[in-house]
Amino acid sequence: MSEGENHQGEEVWEEVPEPEEIDEEEARELPIDVFAEDESEPDESEPAGAMGLAGRPKRRPDRFIDLRGGQFGHTFPHDTNLRVPVFFEQNHIRTIGHSTFVRRPAGIRWFVMINSQRMRQLNATQRGMQLLLNHEAQGHCRGYGHGEANSQANPAFSPRVLVNA
Ligand SMILES: [Zn+2]
Repeated sequence: MSEGENHQGEEVWEEVPEPEEIDEEEARELPIDVFAEDESEPDESEPAGAMGLAGRPKRRPDRFIDLRGGQFGHTFPHDTNLRVPVFFEQNHIRTIGHSTFVRRPAGIRWFVMINSQRMRQLNATQRGMQLLLNHEAQGHCRGYGHGEANSQANPAFSPRVLVNA
């Protein structure tokens, strides 16, 4: 069986890594606009005109996810605004999804990158994508690490996601 082919009815679990922190300069060098406040309006507060290194406009967030309030994890700082941008088609990342945070004077900014191509190769379902987004956003972006608290409070409790749920 080659990569990307799955027997019907077989559960496909994918490992997802712990989040990482990058600094503001690294964030500004990314080809995605991680500080955007909504899906369509260019962020006027970005002095670089929200252009990537090659002078191309940065990719806008594909969507935002509103984070649940209540208890937060303690492994990482949680997102300050409780609203995180999600970028699909980040097909260069080594796994199906990854969360990153940046400390700024205004607070902590998280963003989520999804390897859509890899998810298609794995025949991921809509429910599987939702589980991945829950893992990244409602788990990591709320400060939780793998194995912290329990799977009710922390959707990132397990380091694996059932992509064809
Ligand atoms: Zn994770």
